[in-house]
Formats: sequence, structure tokens, C-alpha cells
Amino acid sequence: MEVAGRLDRLRAALGAAGCDVLVVAHLTNVRYLTGFSGSAATLLVLPDGAVLVTDGRYEEQAADELAAVGVEAELFVGRTLAAQTDELRTRLAGVARVGLEADHVTWAEQRRFADVVTGDLVPTEHLVEELRAVKDPGEVARIEAACAIADEALAAVLPQLDAGPTETAFAAVLEAEMRARGADDISFDTIVASGPNGSRPHHQPSSRRIEPGDLVVIDFGALVEGYHSDMTRTVPVGGVGALDGTQRRMLEVVTAAQAAGVAAVAAGLPVAGVDAACRAVIDEAGWGDAFVHGTGHGVGLDIHEAPGVNGTSAASLVAGQVVTVEPGVYLPGHGGVRVEDTVVVTPDGCRPLTCAPKP
Ligand code: ZN
Ligand code: ZN
Repeated sequence: MEVAGRLDRLRAALGAAGCDVLVVAHLTNVRYLTGFSGSAATLLVLPDGAVLVTDGRYEEQAADELAAVGVEAELFVGRTLAAQTDELRTRLAGVARVGLEADHVTWAEQRRFADVVTGDLVPTEHLVEELRAVKDPGEVARIEAACAIADEALAAVLPQLDAGPTETAFAAVLEAEMRARGADDISFDTIVASGPNGSRPHHQPSSRRIEPGDLVVIDFGALVEGYHSDMTRTVPVGGVGALDGTQRRMLEVVTAAQAAGVAAVAAGLPVAGVDAACRAVIDEAGWGDAFVHGTGHGVGLDIHEAPGVNGTSAASLVAGQVVTVEPGVYLPGHGGVRVEDTVVVTPDGCRPLTCAPKP
């Protein structure tokens, strides 16, 4: 990963955002800019340097992580909040416009900074998130590794569906398999939604036993060095032949819609076109009202990040973005189908990073 160049790219965007200095309080953004992965830090991005303020628990880790990626930021370790606040006050004295990340600062933190700065506080939005949306090759490699673990783990545990596990038990073996194959963690709470439960897009695994003839929506991911994967497969238990006509049609339509969405991904094409391509197929089948969520989202250090893939986006896709394409149809009483892949945008299309077979 090319971490060391990120602070300069951020500095280049500060002027247009109306600030001289940016206070980065959001830990995911701190990690992106410095490599520091601890649970407490504030990063000051100054015109000619940067200061990472943290506490005594992270003195050794912070020094190691900054050095490992070649980031030249000063490290200030304050054992108390008061000591950290004094350091911020000193560093920000005389700065006319101090940016604060509006989406990530609590009211209490805003009041703390209002007391610390002598100049103006400027709310900023999406400055670091916009940089994060386009991945470098090292980031793509980590997401790809997480996706490969998810692919392999699903293949390893799928035969167990036939034994009729509960949703909770199946989620547990899938998660254990990802960890055994090298995942640092799961990337979000695993969704296993079988039979009628499938009509709830974000169903939590329950004690329901999975049965032949069920469609099972399995939405899950692995975490590798801070980077997430995201994939959904909808599996017919007992094979497609065990499904009723409506279920079979749902599976065919959503699979076709997802393929149409993936085919609409390429650098320079409108983000909204991906959503439109999926929706056209589902509308044609008469289930437009049953596709109740956006088509996808960026994936990286967060499981949901920029760019949002939906019909209201005015943006175009950029090579290096990593996005999901995940249309679904949800019919109360019948269940649901969602098919989701994570793909990396390329100049002439995209490359799928999740590759598990689709039924
Ligand atoms: Zn998902
Ligand atoms: Zn997703």
C-alpha cells in the first residue's frame, strides 16, 4: 500500500474545503492516512506536517505502525485527556480555519474544539472518504484476499446445509471457517435467512431449521488487515429442482439482474446506470416494488463506504473503486433472493473479487 502519499493528497484538497488545517477524529480515516490501527487518536493535518495525538496505551504500537508505512507524522502521547487537549491547543494556536469532520464529531467534541481553537471551526464532509473511494493495488490485494477466504469458506461449509442446521448454527460454522482460513475477523454480522425469513433483507440468524426446498440468503464477509469483503449467495437447499415455480423465477430474475448490473460497471460510466441496469430486469419481471434497497456500495476499510451505488447518484465510476452489485427481490410469505458480488472497477469494465459459483 502507498500510505505515505495520502497526507499530501489530502492537503491538496484542504484549500477548496475552506480550511488551513484538518482535525481527523474518525479512526478509520486516521488509519487510512497513517497506518495507525488503535482505538484512540486524533490526527492534525498541518500545511507542512502532521501530528498524531494518542494516549499511553498506544505509544509503542503507534510508533511501529507509522514507521512500517513510512508516514512522517510527529507522535504526541498524552497520558491524560487534558494533556492531549493542551497539545492540540498549542498546535492550533493562530490557525485561522480549522476543519472538523462533520459526519464524525459528536456535539461534545465540537464543544471541546471550539474551546481549543482561536480561529474558526469549519465543518468538512467526505474529504478523506473521497480519497478512500479509489483503492491502490495494495488495498485491492487485501480486499481480494478477504474475498477469496469468503469464497473458500462458503464452498467448505455449503454441504452442511443438507443436514438441516439452524440458521445460527450455519452462520457460526461459516464464520469459524473464515477465521480458520486466515480472516482476522468477520466483516459484519453474518446474515443467514432461510425460507420465509428471506423476505427480510437484514434478517438476523435465528433458531429456524433449514429445510429442503428453502432458498437461503447468505450474506457475509471476511476481514483482512482492516479490509472487508462482501458477498451474498442465495442457495436452493436440495437443488433448484426442490424449489417451487415462484422461487425458481425469483432466483433466475435476480441472478440475471445482478449480471446486468455487473455488465454496466466500467470507469467513466454513471454509477446510476448500474442501479438502472439491475432495476430494468426486475421491473420487467413485475417485481420492481420488491427490490427495496439500493444496488450497492463501496467496500474497503469500512464495509459500507463511498461510492453509494443507487439511482440518485450523479457520479461516474472511477478505475480502482471497489463496489458491490447486490439486487434482491423480497416477497413476504415466499422469502427472498439477493445475489451480491464485490468488483473492482477497471478502465474497460470490472473484475469480480468474489467468485463463488451461483446456483
Ligand atoms: Zn452483503
Ligand atoms: Zn453489500
